[in-house]
Amino acid sequence: MNKEIKCSFYLTRSPHLENYLTENLPDNCNSTIHTEPLDGSNLDKKADIIGVFKDSQVTAERIKKMENLKMIATLCTGFDNIDTQKAKEEGIPVCNAPTYGNNTVAEYTLGLMLAWMRKIPQAINEVNKGNFDTGNLRGSELQDKTIGIIGTGHIGEKILEKLAGFNVDTLGYDIYKKDYLEDKFNFSYCSKKKLLQNSDIITLHTPLLDETKHMIDQTAFDSMKSDALLVNTARGGLVDSKALLQALQEEKIAGAALDVIEQEALLEEPQQICEGKCSPDELEISLVSKLIIDHENTIVTPHNAFNSKEAVRRRLITSAENITKFIAGDVQNNVLEQN
Ligand code: NAD
Repeated sequence: MNKEIKCSFYLTRSPHLENYLTENLPDNCNSTIHTEPLDGSNLDKKADIIGVFKDSQVTAERIKKMENLKMIATLCTGFDNIDTQKAKEEGIPVCNAPTYGNNTVAEYTLGLMLAWMRKIPQAINEVNKGNFDTGNLRGSELQDKTIGIIGTGHIGEKILEKLAGFNVDTLGYDIYKKDYLEDKFNFSYCSKKKLLQNSDIITLHTPLLDETKHMIDQTAFDSMKSDALLVNTARGGLVDSKALLQALQEEKIAGAALDVIEQEALLEEPQQICEGKCSPDELEISLVSKLIIDHENTIVTPHNAFNSKEAVRRRLITSAENITKFIAGDVQNNVLEQN
């Protein structure tokens, strides 16, 4: 492709990305940078390539409207915001940054586990209020606990690596087993049910797909130990929020440490509710999510696990490479080939 390539980027989260892309994409790329997520009003009908974060909904209808579209670059790992079925039908590759966040998300997940177990957020809050009484701040160790990892891909494996120093037992559930993990770590694969029944901490690391949506539902909560902690740094939709709220309220589990939650975009931009941009179901789930956030046994962060200087840099390098290679006729990191 020697002619001008029209690229449209929807960069809501990384203000530094603009310079990086301008400097690292081929000279024949003519890039437009939007600072809002892709929506009906800023859709670039002439774009050859679009670059989006998870907050841009790349629906079938929008793909159809972009008549010249040849590639979708998702500047992150997850791609549940993109209609991959439609992209496949149209022969448009969807290229992601598959490994940039392995270490960063694994470290953050451990951070959330420790923060919840040792009540670190509450301790900070109390000191900020001038209260140094530790009476309500007694927590639990990680040592000797059983940690259940659902999804032992890139991030799940990094978590196993990091947990090796904590003297814990680890269980894993995945549809694709990596047998070497059982030799390398104090780890064994088991059924999802056994993992749920036996784990003190359950941590989620699968993509959000039709098959994984609400994989942690009421039945799953019924199987868990009453003192179990649920950790989710993958995608909010893996957990049925109504079932989680009920489990918290009925003390079926001890708590949750979440970096992601269903309808987080609506909670981030609540004016969408006033503008009628959400369905009654989405509105209901966003209210449930708000109750989960406010529950005394939860800690919630704003989809921030990826956000280290090192990971963001790796993500930019991979995304620019994905686009450059695609233009050169060599498609890499196409998630459609993994489905
Ligand atoms: P990965 O593709 O390397 O691993 C995912 C694992 O899930 C694979 O081993 C796969 O076999 C397994 N899996 C798929 N379907 C399954 C099912 N039905 N049941 C059980 N296991 C199943 O992905 P990764 O790099 O480890 O990332 C995991 C997820 O983390 C991403 O999809 C993304 O949504 C999320 N993520 C979140 C952040 C953040 O900032 N919070 C950052 C990066 C990634």
